[in-house]
Order: sequence, then structure tokens, then C-alpha cells
Amino acid sequence: MILNLILVKLNFVIKVKINVSMNPVQIKLLDKEKLFIKWDDDHESILSLKYLRDECPCALCKGETVLLKTFRPPKPVIVTPEMYIVKNIETIGEYAIQITWKDGHKTGIYSWDYLNQLEMEQGKNNDQKNNPLL
Ligand SMILES: [Zn+2]
Repeated sequence: MILNLILVKLNFVIKVKINVSMNPVQIKLLDKEKLFIKWDDDHESILSLKYLRDECPCALCKGETVLLKTFRPPKPVIVTPEMYIVKNIETIGEYAIQITWKDGHKTGIYSWDYLNQLEMEQGKNNDQKNNPLL
């Protein structure tokens, strides 16, 4: 079990190193509804806060993947407006941001890599936001 954890962490570190070439130069909130990110290659990402929260990568929201097995917790039943309001955003080292939501949830760490992935998925799934499979 401990070995598994070390492997997952190691894999994460390697991933971050590969993507080290792309870094945000500016991160800001737009209209309290969207997160704007300008990358150092001049690319600009706009992600809706609701989408970011729904895709929170923390173990509580997404479950944990241990050696290809994903343990996904059930979706929370109680949805409050506070869930989608950002209270604070902090950068974590050189590789991620940590978002504190108004309902107190703040265990999600959004790496640059993950934010890029989300942007791509957001574009793809724009017409099916309420996909029951997600
Ligand atoms: Zn979470």
C-alpha cells in the first residue's frame, strides 16, 4: 500500500517535470464566474468556475486512482451556490493553484497540466454539460 502511494507520487512528479515548459503569466477571475489564465506561450484559457468545481481533482470529489483502479465517491447531494464561488486562489510551488471555495472546500490542487486538460474537455463537452456519466 505504501509502495503504491510512492509510485503514484513519483508518476505525478515526472508528469509535472515534463510540462514545466508551460507556465501561466497571469491568473485572474472574470465576473466572479470564470477563471482566466494567460500562459507564457500567449495562449489564453477561460474556464467556468462551476466546471472547475465540478471537476475538482481532490480525492474527496474524484476518488483516488491506485494502480488503475479508481475509487470514485458518490456525487455530493447537497449543492449550494457557495460551492461555485471562489474565496481565494493560491499558487502551489511552480506547478499548480489551490482554490478555496466559499463553502470551505479547498483540497483540490489544479496543476497547469490539469487546467489545460480541463480547457480541452470544456470545449468538447460544451453541449452536454449535464452528462449523467460524469
Ligand atoms: Zn474536491
